[in-house]
Amino acid sequence: MQQHTQFYANGQWLSSTGNEHIDVINPFTEEVITSIQSSSPEDILTAVEAAHQAFKSWSQSSIKTRIDLLKKIAQVLKDQQEELGKVILSELGMPLKMTLRVQVASPIATFELTAKELEGFIWEEQIGNSKVVREPSGVVAAITPWNYPLHQIAAKVAPAIASGCTVILKPSEVTPLNAILLAKAFELAGAPAGIFNLVFGYGASVAETLLTAPEVDLISFTGSTRAGKSIMASAANQIKRVRLELGGKSAAIILPGADLQKATKATVNSCFMNSGQTCSALTRLLVHEKDYEAVAEMAVTQARSFTLGDPMNESTRLGPLVSKVQQERVREFIGQAIAQGAQLLIGGQSMPEGVVKGFFVSPTILGNVLPENTVAKEEVFGPVLSLIKYQDVDQAIDIANNTNYGLAGAVWGASSDEALTVAKKIRAGQVDINGANFNMLAPFGGFKQSGFGRELGKFGIDEFLELKSYQMPA
Ligand code: NAD
Repeated sequence: MQQHTQFYANGQWLSSTGNEHIDVINPFTEEVITSIQSSSPEDILTAVEAAHQAFKSWSQSSIKTRIDLLKKIAQVLKDQQEELGKVILSELGMPLKMTLRVQVASPIATFELTAKELEGFIWEEQIGNSKVVREPSGVVAAITPWNYPLHQIAAKVAPAIASGCTVILKPSEVTPLNAILLAKAFELAGAPAGIFNLVFGYGASVAETLLTAPEVDLISFTGSTRAGKSIMASAANQIKRVRLELGGKSAAIILPGADLQKATKATVNSCFMNSGQTCSALTRLLVHEKDYEAVAEMAVTQARSFTLGDPMNESTRLGPLVSKVQQERVREFIGQAIAQGAQLLIGGQSMPEGVVKGFFVSPTILGNVLPENTVAKEEVFGPVLSLIKYQDVDQAIDIANNTNYGLAGAVWGASSDEALTVAKKIRAGQVDINGANFNMLAPFGGFKQSGFGRELGKFGIDEFLELKSYQMPA
């Protein structure tokens, strides 16, 4: 078994001197694939210093240089898409077809689309006697989770590099291997040394050095609300810029008169995508009481179509959860929901029939969930959909908004206009109307405890820029 014992700084692979060896586990086979040596505080400071030095020239680089680099990185990743897919599948367990379509294609698109956004990006404007410009924020510490690992990395690294910032990335310790391939892509694309650096380790231990280094200007974090709170507190001491993409508990509302079949199918698919490990998953389905029985039946039928199995197998639609810890956590949520009165319509706590290995949880639909039940308020991060009845539309809106989160949502109505009227009252960063597609150029991010800051498109680039004005003589 090959072990990874290096970190990447100043364009070089250097020996890690951290004292932890973190196992990377295949969630389907439950076998250790490899281990990653953690980066010591000295390693992290080496990476920070590399980013700090590289910022001096990269912040002054031409827009054309940045566009060319982003396009080259996209091309290198494209050339390696099969390998990338297999690596991400081995760390995460998402079925191969979806891994290629989502986990691989979307980061490639992010590098390409960011290059395209740069072509038309407005860097300065004249306001009275002032020239108002956007300048790069500086050195960025990026910390990312495991659920869409390379997508979440690309959503930070591509716009940071595009804006003229330099980066130190600390990927999730659960899925670190795809980040190594990205560092290699930077090398192959001929990136200037030090603009992208990579360190490893558990969050809290890396954070202590990385996030408090005075040379780090901005922290861009995607992960749990719990970790986000701790990062925000630590950033306060030096007034570092913070961007937080955190958890969610998103609701889909089916209005009376909507296409029940289409709405139910789409919501179950959203909830079970990546085995429910999606921050913007629609995990609560709000249904008018008169439509409830029909929707419950349709949801169960749709859940049955999620064939569980080997992620390498073409017919598998539901892979394992990422880890044993996650599997146990999700099972506990299901047990607790039933204890609080929810009705188990399909799935449940026990190991799916015929499954002998892998961190699987059966696709689970819970009926008659009450808005105040734990499963309706907390992020489960597993294939568990809660059906909640409402009596009138105002009540549905209140239920949808009655969580600490505000990441996403969906509204289904007889017409898009009717659905949009309701969507305007949903306190969340993105709301899909009648099943409309995800847009890679629209801002992605949360209200309330889902965080602040926006990723993707031109909005993502803006997050890494400071406004500055030059007052010019007449
Ligand atoms: P996590 O918060 O445990 O870990 C995320 C990253 O933060 C990892 O790299 C981890 O090592 C690091 N980390 C953990 N504790 C830290 C600390 N105290 N200080 C600094 N870094 C720390 O989350 P996870 O389990 O990897 O990911 C799942 C969570 O991420 C879910 O809550 C999900 O909703 C959220 N998420 C949000 C978005 C979004 O865009 N809003 C996208 C994907 C995932």
